[in-house]
Amino acid sequence: MNRYATQLYNLAPVWGQNLILTGYSTLLDRERYGGRFGEFRDLLEKAEWYSESELIAYQDERLRATVAHAYNTVPFYRQRFDGCKLKPADIRGQEDLPKIPLLTREDVRSHFDELRSRDVDRNSMKTGHTSGTTGTPLTVGYDANTIWMAYAALDRHYRWAGCRLANDGDRIAVARGNVIVPLDQKRPPFWRMNRRHNQLLLSSFHLSKQNLPGYFEALACFKPAVLDGYPSTLYVLAKFLQSRGETFPIRAAITSSETLYDFQREVIEERFKCRVFDYYALAERVIFSSECDRHEGHHLAMEYGVSEVVDGEGRPVSSGTVGKLVGTSLHNNAMPLIRYVTSDMTSVRTKPCSCGRGLRMMDDVTTKAEDLLTLKDGRLISPSVLTHPFKPLDCIEGSQIVQTDPQTVIVRLIPGPTYTQAHTDHLITELTARLGADVKVEVQMVDQLEQKSSGKFKWVISHVPLGI
Ligand SMILES: [Zn+2]
Repeated sequence: MNRYATQLYNLAPVWGQNLILTGYSTLLDRERYGGRFGEFRDLLEKAEWYSESELIAYQDERLRATVAHAYNTVPFYRQRFDGCKLKPADIRGQEDLPKIPLLTREDVRSHFDELRSRDVDRNSMKTGHTSGTTGTPLTVGYDANTIWMAYAALDRHYRWAGCRLANDGDRIAVARGNVIVPLDQKRPPFWRMNRRHNQLLLSSFHLSKQNLPGYFEALACFKPAVLDGYPSTLYVLAKFLQSRGETFPIRAAITSSETLYDFQREVIEERFKCRVFDYYALAERVIFSSECDRHEGHHLAMEYGVSEVVDGEGRPVSSGTVGKLVGTSLHNNAMPLIRYVTSDMTSVRTKPCSCGRGLRMMDDVTTKAEDLLTLKDGRLISPSVLTHPFKPLDCIEGSQIVQTDPQTVIVRLIPGPTYTQAHTDHLITELTARLGADVKVEVQMVDQLEQKSSGKFKWVISHVPLGI
């Protein structure tokens, strides 16, 4: 929603907010489920049963088209290919991909315009923002095909979980990062309805011991088939059920956006009496992977992109060896990302899944472990929801969130050259909107960010003991 729609939303009564959410979802429908969505959904339904070699042949054909398109219409790639004396004809398939230099997050940040295809109208290009938990926001561009393909992949994930997404879909309770309930609201309802998609949207910002019984009353009325959210949020809900010795049976729990730990999966499955179906996707839309009902690892959506796992030098590692995950989109003509390096680690498996699908297998993806924040009023805040205020600010070169006590959150920040006071104001406003007026948010400019003794970077650090 834009700023004015958000203001209108915040002023509206609960019934009005439900109406706005439903109307907004109707508007988004065309972007997500219109155009070639049906064609991609049918392709994915058929292609999951192709053999691995048929899937590779499909990928190679799309890859050759993507590379030719990039060379002919994207200034960045023309220059990069010419610089390495490469021609599109040198890339016959994915085995030739290592000839192309890796594309880093920094490349995309500093060459956004040169990465845009001159063949695609600038106004028709959609943009997406991400910061994940890297602390460095990034903007990427994509065309309509990319979005339809991404929703077709999500639709398949729901189908594998025995559920239906979108129109005529199942009843879905969603616990993700959008601020759908004003933070100063102290009494239920801490949820809103998107009737268009049969969704009960649960606020991720009011999860305290005191409020949780109300959440379960709303869930009991709504009777969801599916609970879809961050693993850390679903874990908070499941731990609450556990503390009361209760269960809440549903058909499937769907998780994404954070590492799903075994201890979380166990409690969620035990308390919701269902299996957890995890999927992995990126805002850069180069890789999508998901668990089927055998839960033997993630199937890579090979129709969506080409994935590689590489070592520190950018060389592909052998199956079973952990490395950096690298992805190439096969459908994004607006801003083709070729060999884009993610910040996540995994390994590829050679052993196929017992379900018989030809889609390659990958181990669970390890993103970095972040802390949950515990606030004074007992609310638990998932690290993923804190990424949202940072997403549009690609003038930030690095950031880190440190909670020093239940009422103080410090944002350490390395500003880029175009960073201004207005960006600090935006961060304080947006973080306060999520954490509450009684939490003091302080922004500190720093030259470098704190690393753990292991050398790993942690984006959210909390010094407050977890309240569950
Ligand atoms: Zn499988």
